[in-house]
Amino acid sequence: MFNAKVNQNKDLSAYQGVCVIAQQEKGINLSVTFELMNEGRKLADKTDSQLYVVILGNKIDDAVDELSNYGADKIFYYEHELLEKYSTDAYTKVVSSFIEDNKPEIVIYGASSIGRDFAPRVAARVGTGLVADCTGLDINEEDGKFLQTRPAFGGNLMATIICPNDRPQMATVRPGVMEKAKKVNKKSHVLKIVPSLTQEDIIARTVDIIMDKTKKVSLNDADIIVAGGRGVGNKEGFELLQQLADTLGGVVGSSRVPVDSGWIDHSRQIGQTGQTVRPKLYIACGISGAIQHMTGMSESEYIIAINKNPSAPIMKSSHLAIEGDLFKVIPELINEINSKK
Ligand code: FAD
Repeated sequence: MFNAKVNQNKDLSAYQGVCVIAQQEKGINLSVTFELMNEGRKLADKTDSQLYVVILGNKIDDAVDELSNYGADKIFYYEHELLEKYSTDAYTKVVSSFIEDNKPEIVIYGASSIGRDFAPRVAARVGTGLVADCTGLDINEEDGKFLQTRPAFGGNLMATIICPNDRPQMATVRPGVMEKAKKVNKKSHVLKIVPSLTQEDIIARTVDIIMDKTKKVSLNDADIIVAGGRGVGNKEGFELLQQLADTLGGVVGSSRVPVDSGWIDHSRQIGQTGQTVRPKLYIACGISGAIQHMTGMSESEYIIAINKNPSAPIMKSSHLAIEGDLFKVIPELINEINSKK
């Protein structure tokens, strides 16, 4: 366990409550927001405190209304036309001033590209630390300390970090690791706030956001993932995996080797330096099961491994291990599934 120290002169008792920084895109709440809300609720209950959600945007009342059904005590909705698209400067300013005014004890962000971009800036501005890329959060029952767990040393060990002298205690959390919050019967209290923002506050401006049209369903949202590794051999090999994914209504993922080899886009990488997923079904084709890959998919509900080598580590960690050449097994699987349709 490591102790991180940034600022020892704060009145720690002034900081109360758990705060989730929500993420939305064009008025659609992202999955990570619901995952953080579930985790935030547990932390708030364990610290006998309130759960706040902060959401930023412009004319996103429907998204805010949806969030109000998921167990937060209060939602702070910062609405401004300069918040229509993500802006590092605007988000940093608004979230920092929220923290200075409301003094939450714990603040959690999604470790998405956006969260990873502005959370460290907020930390610097409010004079606290930040534990990046957490895969587990908890409160120590004995002393009430906030425990932030993340992979360290290439994923070979899990480090639990505490920040006893800093407030707020802040963490970014990997999308896809935590379960999503469920709807509750009680609505959250929503406060709409117009922040004081001007063009001068924004140095770097987002001109446009171009969505990747090839990704119909993101890896995080997919129920079925067909993932390929070195055993797939080349770019063309992934066409066979795509056929299996299409047959099952799933999406294609990858280990790091095909990404590094240029066979598939980095957005498809699963693992320590890629995405964390927990689909209902994960089919690993020609993947050995290195720890750095397993970190990103071991929470899948059902894992099928197709591998030539019966001693590959993934064969032991899967629910069903199919020993064989993926180029023979997958076409047979596709035929079998189609014959049952
Ligand atoms: P290999 O380990 O080479 O395994 C290939 C498998 O395919 C073998 O088991 C073989 O038996 C099987 N095979 C071959 N041909 C066939 C066939 N025709 N049919 C069936 N099976 C076949 N890796 C990730 O995946 N994600 C990460 O995010 C990640 N981050 C990393 C971060 C760090 C800091 C480091 C050091 C490494 C990281 N890695 C990551 C790399 C990781 O350590 C492994 O090297 C990688 O996961 C191996 O990929 P693989 O299983 O596809 O390839």
